[in-house]
Amino acid sequence: MLEIKNLSKTYGNGVRALDNVSLNIPKGMYGLLGPNGAGKSTLMRTIATLQNADQGSIDFNGIDVLKEPAKLRAQLGYLPQDFGVYPRMSARAMLDHLAILKGLSDNKERKRVVEGLLEQTNLKKVAKKSVASYSGGMRQRFGIAQALIGDPQLIIVDEPTAGLDPEERNRFHNLLSEIGENVVVILSTHIVEDVADLCPRMAILNQGRIVAEGVPSDLIAQLDGKVWMKRISKEELPEHRTRYRVISTRLTQGEVLIHVEAAENPGDGFEAIAPDLEDVYFSTITANQSDAAAA
Ligand code: ADP
Repeated sequence: MLEIKNLSKTYGNGVRALDNVSLNIPKGMYGLLGPNGAGKSTLMRTIATLQNADQGSIDFNGIDVLKEPAKLRAQLGYLPQDFGVYPRMSARAMLDHLAILKGLSDNKERKRVVEGLLEQTNLKKVAKKSVASYSGGMRQRFGIAQALIGDPQLIIVDEPTAGLDPEERNRFHNLLSEIGENVVVILSTHIVEDVADLCPRMAILNQGRIVAEGVPSDLIAQLDGKVWMKRISKEELPEHRTRYRVISTRLTQGEVLIHVEAAENPGDGFEAIAPDLEDVYFSTITANQSDAAAA
């Protein structure tokens, strides 16, 4: 269990990236959803002991993460948002190298671990190729392979599917869901489907604050009977925005499909619609933004 309490961080330029964030994250896949700039990477890097918070605490199974970073690192697997330079080294050689750095000094054992990870991430056939030549999806799977060295109990993946095509994303999802229910896996993303498909629990972060937390189906149920849709022309959009609480707009075939949130049927050609996680996300984010605008 990962317990984050009252975590805050303001950067030197005055941006308050984390504002009193508290979360209890159990074993299994946990989705942290939020738009760009919400503070997700700041939170992930702080948990991964790569940067400090101004206040608050993080506890992982009894380890005080901010005070005992080395202890946490021994149990951590991290796939950063920006994996950085891709080596002109084969995936197998690179994993072997990283495994040595993680302290796997026994040659036989290390070979077993490296081959197991190549197998698990479906990279065995391309293990001799340089990582620099890999496609986006292969790089992300390689990223997971390196994150899994040394049986981490806490795995953090930051925006792993950004830029992947649907097939690669699907593969990556399958890989993540196989990692297991016995470790804490935090998936940070701005893509709603990533969380909807994979995560039994989730939180939404916006402007540094947790604005929703729980089981996705429970969050969806809270919107039951409150989401209405209508097809309108582009010209009608500004007027609809002033009259209704528009939570999402999607352009289809020259028309705009809008979702609005209202306790009762607004009439005016609106139809009831069963809410999904995307509605939850946009409803929460837009509510939060109008609060901020009103303040
Ligand atoms: P996300 O990962 O959700 O996109 P980030 O944690 O990267 O969010 O950023 C949160 C906010 O903090 C943004 O406004 C971003 O511009 C700002 N920020 C991030 N890193 C720094 C930094 N090193 N210095 C100053 N501002 C930063």
